[in-house]
Amino acid sequence: MTLAILGGAGYIGSHVVQYLRALNVPLVVYDNLSQGHAESLLGADLVVGDIGDAERLSSCIRQYGVTGVMNFAGLIAVGESVKEPALYYANNVSRTLTLLDTLLSEGVRDFVFSSTCAIYGMPQFLPLTEDHPTNPINPYGRTKLAIEFVLEDYARAYDFRYMSLRYFNASGADPAGQIGECHQPETHLIPLLLEAVQGHRPALSVFGNDYDTPDGTCVRDYIHVLDLAQAHWLALQFLRETGRSEAFNLGNGQGHSVREVIQAAERVTGLPVPVSEQPRREGDPPVLIGSSRKAFDLLGWQPQYAEIDTILETAWNWQQRWKPQAV
Ligand code: UDP
Repeated sequence: MTLAILGGAGYIGSHVVQYLRALNVPLVVYDNLSQGHAESLLGADLVVGDIGDAERLSSCIRQYGVTGVMNFAGLIAVGESVKEPALYYANNVSRTLTLLDTLLSEGVRDFVFSSTCAIYGMPQFLPLTEDHPTNPINPYGRTKLAIEFVLEDYARAYDFRYMSLRYFNASGADPAGQIGECHQPETHLIPLLLEAVQGHRPALSVFGNDYDTPDGTCVRDYIHVLDLAQAHWLALQFLRETGRSEAFNLGNGQGHSVREVIQAAERVTGLPVPVSEQPRREGDPPVLIGSSRKAFDLLGWQPQYAEIDTILETAWNWQQRWKPQAV
């Protein structure tokens, strides 16, 4: 019953690895280390390889007796996807198709997929439920939706089943502070604003202050990375027990504007966040808030770190004590 955690050295993957190891789940991490960090694995088994390298992935599956896969190996920056869509189609679609075909040929049929709320596009109603129409407004969301369609078709045609987990804004860090968020370059709000607090950046750029939201800045649903980890494990168990392929939203159901996150960071750190008002970033919907009722009801998922201050406390702890200061 060994699990392969693809992209397991990245931000979300490494927290899932930590969570699963605490439960003694046998696993191997498979990661090309283009974005991830081997140190984040804290000694878990690592095979360095790309999801698009069918031969290497097959040999990893055989060597470890892999029976299920969680895939975190994807490109994730909305702004970059608008500027460099070819990168996103190559990795998030083309190489992911190679990966899926490798799983079919190796007889691995349980697949947990990192999807995103970006597949919904501009909300027609809030909170977003899984049956909200999908109309992504950036290439990142479109590549993730493309794979959701592939998964549906494969599950219908082949001996294959999946969970599509549609994350809202993954955030926070291991409360013990051993691992956390460290992208190069960093594009996400919370690590960027904490770097500005520390003086590693002159200011946090606030992208857009004229959205149709209460304070003019974008509203997002921030969900702690360890709550995502819990959901992955529950989703895999559900898949194994029921054989039912499903899609689930994973969010807290609460929206926080960029300004509210800044205020929370000032409360938690006791320090001011220097801010610079900038134009809107391309590809950003004004508000994304999810309903995770389906995950609560079917998976028994119960987020443990829902408060924005708790999310920021864990991120700040990591950022101050451990994060490599390489900005
Ligand atoms: N954001 C911002 N300044 C930054 C980075 C992000 O104002 O330096 C805003 C961004 O426009 C969005 C929100 O913060 O409204 C969350 O962005 P992030 O990139 O963290 O996640 P995304 O929602 O794109 O997945």
